[in-house]
Amino acid sequence: MKRTEQLQRLHSGLSGKYDVIIIGGGATGLGTALDSVTRGFKTLLLEKSDFASGTSSRSTKLVHGGVRYLARMDLMLVTEALRERGLMLRNAPHLTSDQEFIIPVYSWFDAVLYTTGLKFYDILSGRLSLGKSYFINRKKVIERLPDIKPDGLKGGIVYHDGQFDDARMAVSMAKACVKHGGTVLNYFEVMALLKDKEGRIEGVDACDLVTGEKYNIKSSLVINCTGVFADEIIHMDTPEAKRMIKPSQGVHLVFDRSFLNGNSALMIPKTDDGRVLFAIPWYGRTVAGTTDTPLNTISREPVALTEEIDFILNTAGRYMVKPPARKDILSVFAGLRPLASDPDNPHATKEISRRHKIILSGSGLLTITGGKWTTWRCMAEEALDCAIKAGVLRKRNCVTKNLKIESVSGNIPSDRLKVYGENAREIGEMMNENPELAEKISEKLPYTKAEIVWICRNEMPVTLEDMLARRLRALILDAAETAKCAPAVAEIMAGEMEHDGRWIEEQVDCFRKLAKNYLPRI
Ligand SMILES: Cc1cc2nc3c(=O)[nH]c(=O)nc-3n(C[C@H](O)[C@H](O)[C@H](O)COP(=O)(O)OP(=O)(O)OC[C@H]3O[C@@H](n4cnc5c(N)ncnc54)[C@H](O)[C@@H]3O)c2cc1C
Repeated sequence: MKRTEQLQRLHSGLSGKYDVIIIGGGATGLGTALDSVTRGFKTLLLEKSDFASGTSSRSTKLVHGGVRYLARMDLMLVTEALRERGLMLRNAPHLTSDQEFIIPVYSWFDAVLYTTGLKFYDILSGRLSLGKSYFINRKKVIERLPDIKPDGLKGGIVYHDGQFDDARMAVSMAKACVKHGGTVLNYFEVMALLKDKEGRIEGVDACDLVTGEKYNIKSSLVINCTGVFADEIIHMDTPEAKRMIKPSQGVHLVFDRSFLNGNSALMIPKTDDGRVLFAIPWYGRTVAGTTDTPLNTISREPVALTEEIDFILNTAGRYMVKPPARKDILSVFAGLRPLASDPDNPHATKEISRRHKIILSGSGLLTITGGKWTTWRCMAEEALDCAIKAGVLRKRNCVTKNLKIESVSGNIPSDRLKVYGENAREIGEMMNENPELAEKISEKLPYTKAEIVWICRNEMPVTLEDMLARRLRALILDAAETAKCAPAVAEIMAGEMEHDGRWIEEQVDCFRKLAKNYLPRI
């Protein structure tokens, strides 16, 4: 996947009309593009920043039914998400895995309550179950979670959910779109919607933010998949429309693995303020979160609030033998949930259903918002079916249920390179042929120079941030260390992408400013 080739595809695509233009390159947009292109529609996806640079790279990294929605008896949401969990693990094995979770219990009442609740979770997952949940005694909890505080512990409930790499999944989906004939472009902003004489949407005005070139692109259908920015696009269509999106911020802290030894994840089902808190092993670190803080403003780079950091530290500290402190935080990241409220009846964010919403406007703008990463596939299916039912697109069946995002076959050189799917072997060969490329970019980070070179050639990074935050997950594994090795990485990128010394300076400067948001203020 190369940006120059995608631009060429766009230029040749302009001679005719697109069937579908998708605005937004997060989970929802990429999922919708993949559904559309594999049904055989001529598809274009435009993302104003990088793929998954919004909410879709800032999730808890769970492919899950949502145990907490079970408590709220949102059974439709849980059943749907559990089915999609199973399909995602089956169709993207290079980026997903089964993760064991333990809920520690401190009263026999909770032991019965959570064992029963999770049995129900097992039943709802049906044939796509990842394994049965069961109760274990105190001794076994301590064996599996050696860092859990033993005081008052009665036992624990073991259950399974999926885990994944969100930003790499997005890139993998973008590559799959391209493979199936679609066009995907990052750093390409939709500025306005085009309408015909009858007021029906017939395309978009867009700008290539890399070259500054403006485009007028025609299509039968425009789909708004812009997450927390959905109201901006709706406003382009209907300036008088009421705001629908209520952003809710979620923060995660990343610590060294030594805070949670063993292979199990910890799940606290009810914190002081009724939230759920996870501590999960991820790429050799421990990720703890999240929060649910209603916000009134939406920014591209949300920043964790001091009280959110304190809340996670305090809550995790209550359950861990070695309570994490601010100085132990390797990285902090914040994301905004695009919760879709009823504009005429706004609630507090916790009460808004987390199920997605699909809205077709009178002028033909299709908006998909809300939902979860896990449910991208069924959201996309429902959206395209809605357009077919409305007569905007001709009938073609959805094929994503059995669609492999990447076909992984043969020997993978190392477990870590598995995330590159079918290309893992190619990267391994690059390292064998040129040992310099096998060198790591830092002692504290797992990534090699070969990966940077390969990514530049195949995964469309435009900036240093694209590389360090999303193609590699360095920024969220260790923000300070990543800022240190930024110049070396920028130099490799510049060599591959034909940029000069000024580009390196600008990129490093910009990246180091960004990295400050990922470092907690002590
Ligand atoms: C803290 C947190 C934890 C979560 N954890 C999980 C989890 O563990 N599992 C799970 O299943 N779900 C999880 N979710 C939910 C999930 O992450 C989101 O539902 C999903 O990422 C939303 O994706 P999206 O594509 O709708 O939005 P986004 O990822 O925000 O994508 C929207 C994109 O639109 C682009 N855009 C905006 N305006 C324009 C324009 N004019 N032109 C072109 N592009 C534009 C933006 O740049 C952005 O990239 C979590 C959410 C949060 C906030």
